[in-house]
Amino acid sequence: MESVLVSACLRGVPCRFDGRAKASDEMTAAIGDRRPVAFCPEVSAGLPTPRRPAEIVGGDGHDVLDGRARVVDDTGHDVTEAFVDGAGRALEAARRTGCTEALLMARSPSCGRGTVYDGTFTGGLRAGDGVTAALLERHGITVRAAPSA
Ligand code: SF4
Repeated sequence: MESVLVSACLRGVPCRFDGRAKASDEMTAAIGDRRPVAFCPEVSAGLPTPRRPAEIVGGDGHDVLDGRARVVDDTGHDVTEAFVDGAGRALEAARRTGCTEALLMARSPSCGRGTVYDGTFTGGLRAGDGVTAALLERHGITVRAAPSA
């Protein structure tokens, strides 16, 4: 059976920064008859739940991977290393389970695809990808923002 990598918080795992989860019927439909591989890059990197919200400052996930932007939490603490580490672990999980596609949580600094929070902690958005989404894409995995996320 084909496998698809899925943001763990969208499969009911309470791993979001606020200790909550999200799940939707649309998500279940998008997975279809594939086997979902639920994964949270931030928790896999050892970050606690709940945790301070974090955003990418100075670019998107590609800029983080290229050393042009950083990930910081709302107290100004730099968490870039954990976010890059979590992205690597997500790629490893995708490869290990044969996933060629990922359905990830919209707007997240890790999982966002196409749009992410803009680093001002005001709810503003910018075009771009999260760190995990960027790394997966760079390694040939198709990343889609999960429906209704
Ligand atoms: Fe974890 Fe990604 Fe969900 Fe954030 S959006 S809680 S990193 S799975």
